[in-house]
Amino acid sequence: MKRVYDFHEGKASMNQLLGGKGANLAEMTNLGLPVPTGFTITTATCMEYLEKAQGLTTELMQEINEAIIRLEDRTGKSFGKKDNLLLVSVRSGAQVSMPGMMDTILNLGLNDQTVVSFAEKTSLPFAYDCYRRLLQMFADVVYGISPHYFANEIEELEWTYHKELLDFNQKEFIELITRFKNIYTNNGKIFPQEPMEQLTEAVQSVFKSWNNHRAKVYRRLHNIPNDWGTAVNVQEMVFGNSGENSGTGVAFTRNPATGEKQVYGEFLSNAQGEDIVAGIRTPEKISELASSMPEVYEEFTKVCQRLEKHYLDMQDIEFTVENGTLYLLQTRIGKRTAKATVKIVVDLVNEGVISKEEALMRVKPELLNQLLHPMFSSKALKTVDILAKGLPASPGAATGKVVFTAKRAKELTELGEKVILVRQETSPEDIEGMVLSQAIVTSRGGLTSHAAVVARGLGTCCVVGCGDLQVDEQKGELLAQGHIYTEGQEISVNGNTGELYLGIVPTELMEVDESFHTLMTWADEVSQLGVCANAETVKDLTTALQFGAKGVGLARTEHMFFAAERLLEMRRLILAENGDEKKQALETLLEYQQQDFYDMFAITKEKSLIVRLLDPPMHEFLPQKEKEIIEVAERLEKPVTKVKEMIAKLHETNPMLGHRGCRLGITEPGIYQMQVEAIIRSCVALSKIGVTVKPKIMIPLIGGVDELIATKSIIVNRIDELFTELHSEIPYEIGTMIEIPRACLIADQLAKHVDFFSFGTNDLTQLTFGYSRDDVAKFMPEYIEKHILPHDPFQTVDEEGVGALMRIAVEKGRQTNPDISIGVCGEVGGDSASIKVFQKIKVDYVSCSPYRIPLARLSVAQATIQTKIKVD
Ligand code: ADP
Ligand code: MG
Ligand code: MG
Repeated sequence: MKRVYDFHEGKASMNQLLGGKGANLAEMTNLGLPVPTGFTITTATCMEYLEKAQGLTTELMQEINEAIIRLEDRTGKSFGKKDNLLLVSVRSGAQVSMPGMMDTILNLGLNDQTVVSFAEKTSLPFAYDCYRRLLQMFADVVYGISPHYFANEIEELEWTYHKELLDFNQKEFIELITRFKNIYTNNGKIFPQEPMEQLTEAVQSVFKSWNNHRAKVYRRLHNIPNDWGTAVNVQEMVFGNSGENSGTGVAFTRNPATGEKQVYGEFLSNAQGEDIVAGIRTPEKISELASSMPEVYEEFTKVCQRLEKHYLDMQDIEFTVENGTLYLLQTRIGKRTAKATVKIVVDLVNEGVISKEEALMRVKPELLNQLLHPMFSSKALKTVDILAKGLPASPGAATGKVVFTAKRAKELTELGEKVILVRQETSPEDIEGMVLSQAIVTSRGGLTSHAAVVARGLGTCCVVGCGDLQVDEQKGELLAQGHIYTEGQEISVNGNTGELYLGIVPTELMEVDESFHTLMTWADEVSQLGVCANAETVKDLTTALQFGAKGVGLARTEHMFFAAERLLEMRRLILAENGDEKKQALETLLEYQQQDFYDMFAITKEKSLIVRLLDPPMHEFLPQKEKEIIEVAERLEKPVTKVKEMIAKLHETNPMLGHRGCRLGITEPGIYQMQVEAIIRSCVALSKIGVTVKPKIMIPLIGGVDELIATKSIIVNRIDELFTELHSEIPYEIGTMIEIPRACLIADQLAKHVDFFSFGTNDLTQLTFGYSRDDVAKFMPEYIEKHILPHDPFQTVDEEGVGALMRIAVEKGRQTNPDISIGVCGEVGGDSASIKVFQKIKVDYVSCSPYRIPLARLSVAQATIQTKIKVD
């Protein structure tokens, strides 16, 4: 087994073995970019080390020794000898980036002796600055000694000598180093003077860091396997802390919040490594480099373009400038918001970098939900006062109660509270609390700080660098505008502007931008399946069409009977004791329904609209509580006993399997006749004013062919009567739900009598498994935990069972009626995993709730592209 690879031996595709950082350092090296040279110890070596738990093997030591010799040759420097000293960084890097999860040591190779000659060659403050950093990082990473001890010593000495650290003289620096070493001794440790010993200790610590608590938590949250391990990169140091013409930076090739094509990031002059992320000094914007170091800036923008073209995606780059020379230290695919994701793929297509299909495949459908997230209502914003303003790090509009620690975030969330985590800055230890918070706010740090990076990854609203706030985490206090606020204070956080408001500000839906529409259009161009909406209210229908629904796959009429006056008429109908009473109730209901349908068809016009006739059992409409029963009896002028008697009569042991759907349609034909009349009258009225409509009427719960024939004739006879009465005819279609397993098996017989099928996957799943949908919560979580089911079949369709029945129905249905249109209108119609199954089963369209439509349109496109790739 080869355990060590020089950078020029690797490439990007070896990221499993070399880790993401190592593989990309190799790739950049081979592209001829200015990368300090080095080598990578593989991830497999890490796992070998962790399994054996016996220190570094002789084989590995030999490979490391040889790699160091090669490094010395390439750099012309020497590791540990006084002349031309080679210093290295030791950097972890797993297969997928785990930001801030594992540790880095810089300036490794210095000791008490070599720092003196190093200072003579370079400069005194520079050399000692490097050495004290090494002592600090080594203590932290290798021995777990808290960085605060070191920071305190620096502060104390600066105060004693009335000087900044970089103005110290040799004596003062030596005193600092002595104090630092005392911290080691106080913790029972010694800083190893021998460079090779420093290196082996550092390598082992990086290996071990794979199993530290925060790394484990991160892996659990992101489903990263525990046996991947981390690689270790050993790399020649370049020094951003060598003066004003030097510095360190992090940059995205495009804006990660908006996607705008402009190099975006931060630069800190005369600084090293993590100084930026730590937020100690405020960095400058990368664009300012254009005036302060024009040549470096120009070279850097060229590198950005080159890396984007090479990786075909936006990059997140870490770099350092040493005395005017640019060095690249890392590149990776940059994390970005949902908005930026969409804009970037669309722009990349327009720039000719990737294909439309590639663009469509790159966007996770679930991400679109974030895009359709609410924003603060602009009206409400006019009346609120701004509490503070920081940098908008991750968009969104969040409201909740202030907490100051990750621990409290967890505790309060468990009590059902919505919380907003407010801190000076966040660190990897806070990750569990950050995940649970509605928003993250920090008083320090920039757009590339830990809080900002993590929040964007999570899609959580975030504001950083909010200098107007003074946060005291220990006391649990927040000082803003001269007032002190404590835990539990309700605030609102605007991730789009960086503003914070006191109290809960109401939200409304966000406007989606141009690139979103472009991507959706491309999705529709490739898709084989259509996407329709489940909607019946004017509001939902309008939203559905705005989001690009092709039509309405399911309009449930029962929802229309729940408004107060209608419910009374419905109750009058159900409780009617004679034909007259029934007729009276049906006539009033007809008026309501006619208006409903008129409004609905007026919105959908020539687009398809499928109306499902009444589905639930009658007793759902009846009062349950004593008080309500008495009230209803009064209003309908019936004795209370009579009403109670009827309720008892309508009681069903198993209403889901009871007197509902077409069963009710057949035994109480008046209801379906009334509904059909309302549909036809409203559609005829619309067609008379020039609106083209073609109503589609759907019968629920069919399980047999004679059942279908009987229900259909009730409908058709009424329609024929109406056409005669109205002296006018319009085209219409009749279809059936396929939601009873038996219907799937006799679909060939059913298909002869209808124009369309629509799978009701909720009932079909319920009846196929024999699970009552309303009671699954009692056992489903345990079933999933114990792997008895791979997932909840009510959320993602069960391909093996329910899917098999659907397949039979589709095949049989098309055998006897090749023109039949087949859709899915259950809950899973808007689920991307289910959509892949429906693509295979070859239905014509899926139907889902309005807000899931964009997600479904993208999922449908992806399912089609995937099938095409398989065929090719
Ligand atoms: P992380 O994974 O936390 O980003 P890195 O290994 O990328 O850790 O190191 C953090 C920072 O340390 C880098 O962004 C860079 O500024 C600095 N650094 C790492 N290696 C070197 C090096 N060889 N020379 C100079 N700076 C380095
Ligand atoms: Mg890095
Ligand atoms: Mg149903």
